[in-house]
Amino acid sequence: MKPRSAWRASNLGRMSDDCLFCRIVAGEIPATVVHETKTILAFRDIAPQAPVHVVLVPKLHEPHAVALAERAPGELTDLFVAAGEVAVAEGIADSGFRLLFNTGADAGQTVFHAHLHLLGGKPLGALA
Ligand code: AMP
Ligand code: ZN
Repeated sequence: MKPRSAWRASNLGRMSDDCLFCRIVAGEIPATVVHETKTILAFRDIAPQAPVHVVLVPKLHEPHAVALAERAPGELTDLFVAAGEVAVAEGIADSGFRLLFNTGADAGQTVFHAHLHLLGGKPLGALA
């Protein structure tokens, strides 16, 4: 098993200049923001996989959700609370939605800043 310290070998939450989502959080790259709190930014995915596809990111940089859970567990909770609020605002709270963290290459993670996908607006089918 990977030692906990290995997850912590990230840049300890500081903004990374070469991180796409840090740059969106900093306002350097435009995004269609749908929700913002002190700790979270939520914006529409640029390549939506469902009628509603929002990406929620902590403003703190960690490479994936597990590292975020260890470094700042409260922000993980903030992500889920924000996802619920976005689901209500998008009108999919009652029909249902999927919350997904891709973690690592085999899961298809392409942006190594922890992020929660919120997908909904149609029946999504089973996971692969
Ligand atoms: P993942 O594959 O889990 O790392 O998710 C990264 C997501 O970020 C993908 O669904 C991309 O479509 C999305 N994405 C990449 N660049 C942007 C961008 N500039 N604005 C919004 N979403 C983006
Ligand atoms: Zn980042």
